[in-house]
Amino acid sequence: MPYSLLIRNCGQLLTLAGGPTDQPLRGAALADWHILENAFVACEGDKIVALGPMSALDETQVTAATTVLNAQGRVVMPGLVECHTHLVFAGNRAHEFQRKLQGESYLDILASGGGILSTVRATRVAPEAELLANALRHLHDFRRYGITTLEAKSGYGLDKETELRLVRVAREAGRRQPVRVVPTFLGAHVVPPEYKGRPADYLDFLAADVLPALQGEAEFVDIFCEEGAFSVEDSRRYLEKARALGFGLKIHAEQLHDLGGCAMAAELGAVSVDHCDYLSAADAARVAAAGRTVAVLLPLVPLFLRQEQYAPGRQLIGQGVPVAISTDFNPGSCPSKNLWLALSMACLKMGFTPKEALAAVTLNAAWALDLAAEIGSLEAGKRADILVLDVRDYQEIPYWLGENPVQTVIIGGQVV
Ligand SMILES: [Zn+2]
Repeated sequence: MPYSLLIRNCGQLLTLAGGPTDQPLRGAALADWHILENAFVACEGDKIVALGPMSALDETQVTAATTVLNAQGRVVMPGLVECHTHLVFAGNRAHEFQRKLQGESYLDILASGGGILSTVRATRVAPEAELLANALRHLHDFRRYGITTLEAKSGYGLDKETELRLVRVAREAGRRQPVRVVPTFLGAHVVPPEYKGRPADYLDFLAADVLPALQGEAEFVDIFCEEGAFSVEDSRRYLEKARALGFGLKIHAEQLHDLGGCAMAAELGAVSVDHCDYLSAADAARVAAAGRTVAVLLPLVPLFLRQEQYAPGRQLIGQGVPVAISTDFNPGSCPSKNLWLALSMACLKMGFTPKEALAAVTLNAAWALDLAAEIGSLEAGKRADILVLDVRDYQEIPYWLGENPVQTVIIGGQVV
Protein backbone atom coordinates (compact mmCIF):
# COMPACT_ATOMS: atom_id res chain seq x y z
CA MET A 1 0.00 0.00 0.00
CA PRO A 2 1.42 3.43 -0.88
CA TYR A 3 1.59 6.03 1.85
CA SER A 4 -1.45 8.30 2.09
CA LEU A 5 0.56 10.90 4.04
CA LEU A 6 4.28 11.49 4.34
CA ILE A 7 6.01 14.11 6.51
CA ARG A 8 9.60 14.42 5.38
CA ASN A 9 12.63 16.37 6.57
CA CYS A 10 11.65 16.45 10.24
CA GLY A 11 14.60 18.16 11.96
CA GLN A 12 13.70 16.42 15.22
CA LEU A 13 11.08 13.70 15.28
CA LEU A 14 9.98 13.39 18.93
CA THR A 15 8.79 9.78 18.87
CA LEU A 16 8.14 9.37 22.62
CA ALA A 17 8.97 5.72 21.88
CA GLY A 18 11.68 3.56 23.39
CA GLY A 19 10.47 3.12 26.96
CA PRO A 20 8.37 0.38 28.50
CA THR A 21 5.05 -0.16 26.69
CA ASP A 22 3.16 -1.89 29.52
CA GLN A 23 3.12 1.05 31.95
CA PRO A 24 3.38 4.84 31.94
CA LEU A 25 6.81 6.47 31.86
CA ARG A 26 8.20 7.06 35.33
CA GLY A 27 11.48 8.11 36.92
CA ALA A 28 14.38 8.28 34.49
CA ALA A 29 12.24 6.73 31.71
CA LEU A 30 10.22 9.97 31.56
CA ALA A 31 13.08 11.59 29.65
CA ASP A 32 14.57 8.45 28.12
CA TRP A 33 12.65 8.30 24.83
CA HIS A 34 13.90 8.62 21.27
CA ILE A 35 14.36 11.70 19.15
CA LEU A 36 15.22 10.99 15.51
CA GLU A 37 17.07 13.69 13.59
CA ASN A 38 16.45 14.36 9.89
CA ALA A 39 13.61 11.88 9.84
CA PHE A 40 10.28 11.03 8.21
CA VAL A 41 6.95 9.67 9.38
CA ALA A 42 4.55 7.91 6.98
CA CYS A 43 0.87 7.03 7.37
CA GLU A 44 -1.73 4.88 5.66
CA GLY A 45 -5.24 6.02 6.38
CA ASP A 46 -5.53 6.86 10.07
CA LYS A 47 -2.44 4.88 11.16
CA ILE A 48 1.29 5.48 11.28
CA VAL A 49 3.02 2.76 9.25
CA ALA A 50 6.67 3.76 9.12
CA LEU A 51 9.14 6.25 10.55
CA GLY A 52 12.89 6.58 10.65
CA PRO A 53 15.83 8.55 9.28
CA MET A 54 15.32 10.07 5.82
CA SER A 55 17.95 7.65 4.49
CA ALA A 56 15.57 4.77 5.31
CA LEU A 57 12.54 6.23 3.49
CA ASP A 58 11.08 3.78 0.93
CA GLU A 59 10.43 6.17 -1.97
CA THR A 60 8.51 3.46 -3.86
CA GLN A 61 5.64 3.95 -1.38
CA VAL A 62 5.39 7.64 -2.27
CA THR A 63 2.98 8.01 -5.21
CA ALA A 64 0.85 10.69 -6.83
CA ALA A 65 -1.81 9.80 -4.25
CA THR A 66 0.49 10.59 -1.30
CA THR A 67 0.03 13.90 0.50
CA VAL A 68 3.58 15.06 1.18
CA LEU A 69 4.41 17.65 3.85
CA ASN A 70 7.93 19.00 3.97
CA ALA A 71 8.74 19.86 7.60
CA GLN A 72 11.87 21.74 6.45
CA GLY A 73 13.85 20.89 9.56
CA ARG A 74 11.09 21.63 12.08
CA VAL A 75 10.15 19.62 15.17
CA VAL A 76 7.45 16.96 14.62
CA MET A 77 5.75 15.24 17.55
CA PRO A 78 2.59 13.37 18.59
CA GLY A 79 -0.65 15.31 18.99
CA LEU A 80 -1.18 16.64 22.50
CA VAL A 81 -3.43 14.63 24.81
CA GLU A 82 -5.43 16.93 27.09
CA CYS A 83 -6.42 14.55 29.88
CA HIS A 84 -8.38 16.82 32.26
CA THR A 85 -10.93 19.44 31.15
CA HIS A 86 -14.37 20.63 32.18
CA LEU A 87 -15.34 21.31 28.57
CA VAL A 88 -19.11 21.73 28.77
CA PHE A 89 -20.57 24.67 30.69
CA ALA A 90 -22.54 27.88 30.18
CA GLY A 91 -21.42 31.42 30.88
CA ASN A 92 -18.13 32.34 32.48
CA ARG A 93 -16.89 33.63 35.83
CA ALA A 94 -15.08 36.77 34.79
CA HIS A 95 -17.09 38.63 37.47
CA GLU A 96 -15.33 36.55 40.18
CA PHE A 97 -11.87 37.42 38.89
CA GLN A 98 -11.96 40.77 40.66
CA ARG A 99 -13.11 39.12 43.92
CA LYS A 100 -10.15 36.76 43.69
CA LEU A 101 -7.77 39.65 43.10
CA GLN A 102 -9.18 41.34 46.21
CA GLY A 103 -8.21 38.31 48.25
CA GLU A 104 -11.26 36.04 48.45
CA SER A 105 -10.25 32.39 48.29
CA TYR A 106 -11.69 29.72 46.04
CA LEU A 107 -13.42 28.08 49.02
CA ASP A 108 -14.74 31.47 50.31
CA ILE A 109 -16.36 32.12 46.93
CA LEU A 110 -17.76 28.59 46.79
CA ALA A 111 -19.19 28.94 50.31
CA SER A 112 -20.98 32.18 49.33
CA GLY A 113 -22.84 30.44 46.49
CA GLY A 114 -20.38 31.52 43.82
CA GLY A 115 -17.76 29.41 42.15
CA ILE A 116 -18.96 26.08 40.79
CA LEU A 117 -22.53 26.75 41.95
CA SER A 118 -22.85 29.92 39.85
CA THR A 119 -21.80 27.97 36.76
CA VAL A 120 -24.29 25.25 37.77
CA ARG A 121 -27.13 27.81 37.80
CA ALA A 122 -26.18 29.06 34.32
CA THR A 123 -25.65 25.56 32.93
CA ARG A 124 -28.94 24.13 34.19
CA VAL A 125 -30.98 26.70 32.27
CA ALA A 126 -28.86 26.75 29.10
CA PRO A 127 -30.41 25.11 26.02
CA GLU A 128 -28.57 22.03 24.80
CA ALA A 129 -27.79 23.74 21.48
CA GLU A 130 -26.03 26.57 23.33
CA LEU A 131 -23.95 24.12 25.39
CA LEU A 132 -22.98 22.27 22.22
CA ALA A 133 -22.03 25.49 20.42
CA ASN A 134 -19.85 26.51 23.39
CA ALA A 135 -18.16 23.10 23.50
CA LEU A 136 -17.48 23.19 19.76
CA ARG A 137 -15.95 26.66 20.01
CA HIS A 138 -13.66 25.54 22.82
CA LEU A 139 -12.70 22.38 20.92
CA HIS A 140 -11.79 24.49 17.91
CA ASP A 141 -9.47 26.54 20.13
CA PHE A 142 -7.95 23.39 21.65
CA ARG A 143 -7.31 22.01 18.16
CA ARG A 144 -5.37 25.14 17.23
CA TYR A 145 -3.12 24.40 20.22
CA GLY A 146 -2.46 20.94 18.80
CA ILE A 147 -4.75 18.95 21.09
CA THR A 148 -5.90 15.86 19.22
CA THR A 149 -7.55 13.95 22.11
CA LEU A 150 -9.39 15.64 24.98
CA GLU A 151 -11.08 14.39 28.13
CA ALA A 152 -14.33 16.24 28.94
CA LYS A 153 -15.92 16.10 32.37
CA SER A 154 -19.53 16.80 33.24
CA GLY A 155 -20.16 18.36 36.66
CA TYR A 156 -22.03 21.64 36.18
CA GLY A 157 -25.49 20.07 36.32
CA LEU A 158 -25.53 18.24 39.66
CA ASP A 159 -28.96 16.83 38.82
CA LYS A 160 -29.74 13.79 36.73
CA GLU A 161 -31.20 15.52 33.71
CA THR A 162 -28.50 18.17 33.33
CA GLU A 163 -25.61 15.80 34.04
CA LEU A 164 -26.84 13.38 31.38
CA ARG A 165 -27.18 16.33 29.01
CA LEU A 166 -23.58 17.40 29.63
CA VAL A 167 -22.25 13.91 28.85
CA ARG A 168 -24.47 13.80 25.75
CA VAL A 169 -23.16 17.19 24.59
CA ALA A 170 -19.54 16.08 25.08
CA ARG A 171 -20.16 12.97 22.98
CA GLU A 172 -21.96 14.92 20.27
CA ALA A 173 -19.17 17.52 20.19
CA GLY A 174 -16.73 14.67 19.65
CA ARG A 175 -18.72 13.46 16.65
CA ARG A 176 -18.97 16.90 15.01
CA GLN A 177 -15.26 17.76 14.70
CA PRO A 178 -11.97 15.86 14.49
CA VAL A 179 -10.62 16.07 18.08
CA ARG A 180 -11.39 12.81 19.88
CA VAL A 181 -13.46 13.51 23.01
CA VAL A 182 -13.38 11.15 26.01
CA PRO A 183 -16.33 11.78 28.35
CA THR A 184 -15.97 11.54 32.14
CA PHE A 185 -18.85 11.77 34.61
CA LEU A 186 -18.16 14.27 37.39
CA GLY A 187 -21.63 14.51 38.90
CA ALA A 188 -19.77 14.38 42.23
CA HIS A 189 -18.21 17.81 41.65
CA VAL A 190 -19.76 19.52 44.70
CA VAL A 191 -22.89 18.92 46.75
CA PRO A 192 -25.85 20.57 44.96
CA PRO A 193 -28.12 22.97 46.90
CA GLU A 194 -30.84 20.29 46.93
CA TYR A 195 -28.59 18.05 49.04
CA LYS A 196 -26.92 20.74 51.17
CA GLY A 197 -25.28 19.12 54.20
CA ARG A 198 -26.02 15.60 52.92
CA PRO A 199 -23.07 14.67 50.68
CA ALA A 200 -23.41 10.92 51.28
CA ASP A 201 -27.09 10.99 50.27
CA TYR A 202 -26.19 12.81 47.06
CA LEU A 203 -23.53 10.23 46.21
CA ASP A 204 -26.00 7.42 46.92
CA PHE A 205 -28.44 9.08 44.51
CA LEU A 206 -25.76 9.38 41.81
CA ALA A 207 -24.67 5.78 42.23
CA ALA A 208 -28.22 4.39 42.20
CA ASP A 209 -29.96 6.67 39.67
CA VAL A 210 -27.39 8.25 37.38
CA LEU A 211 -24.40 5.92 36.96
CA PRO A 212 -26.48 3.06 35.52
CA ALA A 213 -27.79 5.44 32.83
CA LEU A 214 -24.20 6.31 31.83
CA GLN A 215 -22.82 2.85 31.17
CA GLY A 216 -21.39 2.96 27.65
CA GLU A 217 -21.78 6.77 27.58
CA ALA A 218 -18.97 7.89 29.90
CA GLU A 219 -15.57 6.17 30.18
CA PHE A 220 -14.63 7.39 33.63
CA VAL A 221 -16.21 8.44 36.92
CA ASP A 222 -14.51 11.26 38.82
CA ILE A 223 -15.09 12.93 42.20
CA PHE A 224 -13.86 16.14 43.88
CA CYS A 225 -12.41 14.97 47.21
CA GLU A 226 -11.82 18.18 49.17
CA GLU A 227 -13.00 20.18 52.18
CA GLY A 228 -16.33 21.71 51.15
CA ALA A 229 -16.91 18.89 48.64
CA PHE A 230 -16.60 15.13 49.44
CA SER A 231 -14.65 13.32 52.16
CA VAL A 232 -12.18 10.52 51.53
CA GLU A 233 -14.53 7.91 53.01
CA ASP A 234 -17.55 9.08 50.99
CA SER A 235 -15.36 9.23 47.89
CA ARG A 236 -14.12 5.70 48.46
CA ARG A 237 -17.62 4.25 48.78
CA TYR A 238 -18.77 6.06 45.64
CA LEU A 239 -15.74 5.07 43.54
CA GLU A 240 -16.12 1.43 44.64
CA LYS A 241 -19.70 1.48 43.34
CA ALA A 242 -18.57 3.09 40.08
CA ARG A 243 -15.84 0.49 39.66
CA ALA A 244 -18.36 -2.31 40.21
CA LEU A 245 -20.42 -0.85 37.34
CA GLY A 246 -17.39 -1.05 35.06
CA PHE A 247 -16.25 2.59 34.98
CA GLY A 248 -12.62 3.64 35.08
CA LEU A 249 -11.86 5.87 38.06
CA LYS A 250 -10.41 9.36 38.46
CA ILE A 251 -10.25 11.74 41.41
CA HIS A 252 -9.63 15.45 42.06
CA ALA A 253 -7.64 15.34 45.29
CA GLU A 254 -5.00 17.11 47.35
CA GLN A 255 -5.76 20.34 45.49
CA LEU A 256 -6.13 22.55 48.55
CA HIS A 257 -5.54 20.21 51.50
CA ASP A 258 -3.81 16.90 52.22
CA LEU A 259 -6.74 14.58 52.95
CA GLY A 260 -5.45 11.32 51.48
CA GLY A 261 -7.75 11.05 48.45
CA CYS A 262 -4.99 10.38 45.93
CA ALA A 263 -3.58 7.34 47.73
CA MET A 264 -7.09 5.99 48.37
CA ALA A 265 -8.03 6.28 44.67
CA ALA A 266 -4.73 4.84 43.45
CA GLU A 267 -5.28 1.81 45.68
CA LEU A 268 -8.73 1.37 44.09
CA GLY A 269 -7.00 1.25 40.69
CA ALA A 270 -7.79 4.79 39.45
CA VAL A 271 -6.26 5.61 36.07
CA SER A 272 -5.37 9.05 37.41
CA VAL A 273 -5.23 11.18 40.54
CA ASP A 274 -5.48 14.83 39.61
CA HIS A 275 -4.13 18.10 41.13
CA CYS A 276 -1.78 16.64 43.85
CA ASP A 277 -0.61 20.11 44.94
CA TYR A 278 -0.66 19.01 48.60
CA LEU A 279 0.24 15.34 48.03
CA SER A 280 2.60 14.20 50.83
CA ALA A 281 5.72 12.15 50.17
CA ALA A 282 4.23 9.22 52.08
CA ASP A 283 1.05 9.24 49.98
CA ALA A 284 3.06 9.75 46.78
CA ALA A 285 4.89 6.51 47.62
CA ARG A 286 1.50 4.77 47.90
CA VAL A 287 0.48 6.16 44.49
CA ALA A 288 3.77 4.95 42.99
CA ALA A 289 3.31 1.51 44.55
CA ALA A 290 -0.17 1.20 43.07
CA GLY A 291 1.58 0.59 39.76
CA ARG A 292 -0.05 2.43 36.91
CA THR A 293 -1.99 5.38 38.34
CA VAL A 294 -0.91 8.64 36.71
CA ALA A 295 -0.66 11.84 38.77
CA VAL A 296 -2.16 14.55 36.56
CA LEU A 297 -0.60 17.88 37.51
CA LEU A 298 -2.39 21.14 36.69
CA PRO A 299 0.05 24.05 37.09
CA LEU A 300 -2.22 26.71 35.59
CA VAL A 301 -4.66 26.26 38.51
CA PRO A 302 -2.39 27.47 41.34
CA LEU A 303 -1.24 30.21 38.96
CA PHE A 304 -4.79 31.43 38.37
CA LEU A 305 -5.83 30.99 42.01
CA ARG A 306 -2.70 32.86 43.17
CA GLN A 307 -1.73 29.88 45.28
CA GLU A 308 1.92 29.49 46.26
CA GLN A 309 1.79 25.72 46.51
CA TYR A 310 2.40 23.78 43.29
CA ALA A 311 2.44 20.01 42.99
CA PRO A 312 5.91 18.66 43.85
CA GLY A 313 6.61 17.44 40.32
CA ARG A 314 10.36 16.90 40.71
CA GLN A 315 9.81 14.95 43.90
CA LEU A 316 7.04 12.84 42.33
CA ILE A 317 9.28 11.98 39.38
CA GLY A 318 12.04 11.03 41.83
CA GLN A 319 9.64 8.79 43.74
CA GLY A 320 8.64 6.95 40.55
CA VAL A 321 5.12 8.36 40.28
CA PRO A 322 4.04 8.54 36.60
CA VAL A 323 3.09 12.16 35.89
CA ALA A 324 1.03 13.93 33.24
CA ILE A 325 0.28 17.64 32.73
CA SER A 326 -3.06 19.19 31.80
CA THR A 327 -4.77 22.59 31.82
CA ASP A 328 -7.87 21.67 33.90
CA PHE A 329 -9.72 24.03 31.51
CA ASN A 330 -12.81 25.27 33.40
CA PRO A 331 -14.56 28.60 33.99
CA GLY A 332 -13.44 29.02 37.62
CA SER A 333 -9.88 27.98 38.32
CA CYS A 334 -8.36 27.76 34.82
CA PRO A 335 -10.00 29.56 31.90
CA SER A 336 -7.02 28.68 29.67
CA LYS A 337 -6.76 26.10 26.89
CA ASN A 338 -3.05 26.71 26.42
CA LEU A 339 -1.49 23.35 27.28
CA TRP A 340 1.87 24.70 26.03
CA LEU A 341 1.73 27.31 28.80
CA ALA A 342 0.92 24.56 31.31
CA LEU A 343 3.97 22.67 30.02
CA SER A 344 6.17 25.74 30.52
CA MET A 345 4.76 26.30 34.00
CA ALA A 346 5.50 22.67 34.90
CA CYS A 347 9.13 23.40 34.02
CA LEU A 348 9.20 26.72 35.87
CA LYS A 349 7.21 25.80 39.00
CA MET A 350 7.37 22.01 39.32
CA GLY A 351 10.91 21.25 38.22
CA PHE A 352 10.23 19.33 35.02
CA THR A 353 12.85 19.25 32.29
CA PRO A 354 11.54 20.05 28.79
CA LYS A 355 11.82 16.41 27.73
CA GLU A 356 9.95 15.19 30.81
CA ALA A 357 7.23 17.79 30.28
CA LEU A 358 6.75 16.67 26.67
CA ALA A 359 6.17 13.08 27.79
CA ALA A 360 3.67 14.39 30.35
CA VAL A 361 1.42 16.00 27.69
CA THR A 362 1.57 13.07 25.28
CA LEU A 363 2.24 9.45 26.26
CA ASN A 364 1.59 9.72 30.00
CA ALA A 365 -1.53 11.81 29.37
CA ALA A 366 -2.69 8.98 27.08
CA TRP A 367 -2.10 6.56 29.96
CA ALA A 368 -4.28 8.79 32.15
CA LEU A 369 -7.09 8.07 29.65
CA ASP A 370 -6.25 4.39 29.21
CA LEU A 371 -5.46 5.10 25.54
CA ALA A 372 -1.71 4.59 25.46
CA ALA A 373 -2.01 1.59 23.16
CA GLU A 374 -3.46 3.89 20.46
CA ILE A 375 -2.05 7.39 20.94
CA GLY A 376 0.61 9.44 22.72
CA SER A 377 3.69 8.38 20.74
CA LEU A 378 4.79 8.09 17.13
CA GLU A 379 5.11 4.37 16.43
CA ALA A 380 3.98 2.08 13.63
CA GLY A 381 0.44 0.96 14.33
CA LYS A 382 -0.56 3.97 16.40
CA ARG A 383 -3.10 6.58 15.35
CA ALA A 384 -1.69 9.23 13.02
CA ASP A 385 -2.18 12.20 15.38
CA ILE A 386 0.84 14.36 14.57
CA LEU A 387 1.96 17.98 15.00
CA VAL A 388 4.43 19.97 12.96
CA LEU A 389 5.78 22.76 15.18
CA ASP A 390 7.34 25.99 14.04
CA VAL A 391 10.50 25.42 16.09
CA ARG A 392 13.73 23.60 15.28
CA ASP A 393 14.67 22.24 18.68
CA TYR A 394 12.37 20.72 21.31
CA GLN A 395 14.00 22.87 24.00
CA GLU A 396 12.35 25.90 22.41
CA ILE A 397 8.89 24.53 23.22
CA PRO A 398 8.70 25.54 26.91
CA TYR A 399 11.03 28.48 26.30
CA TRP A 400 8.69 30.61 24.13
CA LEU A 401 6.44 31.27 27.11
CA GLY A 402 2.74 31.43 26.26
CA GLU A 403 3.28 31.01 22.51
CA ASN A 404 1.52 28.41 20.40
CA PRO A 405 4.23 26.61 18.40
CA VAL A 406 1.78 24.62 16.26
CA GLN A 407 2.13 24.97 12.51
CA THR A 408 0.16 21.94 11.25
CA VAL A 409 -2.22 19.54 13.02
CA ILE A 410 -2.88 16.04 11.69
CA ILE A 411 -5.63 13.97 13.27
CA GLY A 412 -6.23 10.39 12.19
CA GLY A 413 -3.99 10.89 9.15
CA GLN A 414 -5.88 13.99 7.96
CA VAL A 415 -4.46 17.51 7.92
CA VAL A 416 -7.07 19.60 9.79
ZN1 LIG B 1 -10.74 19.65 37.29
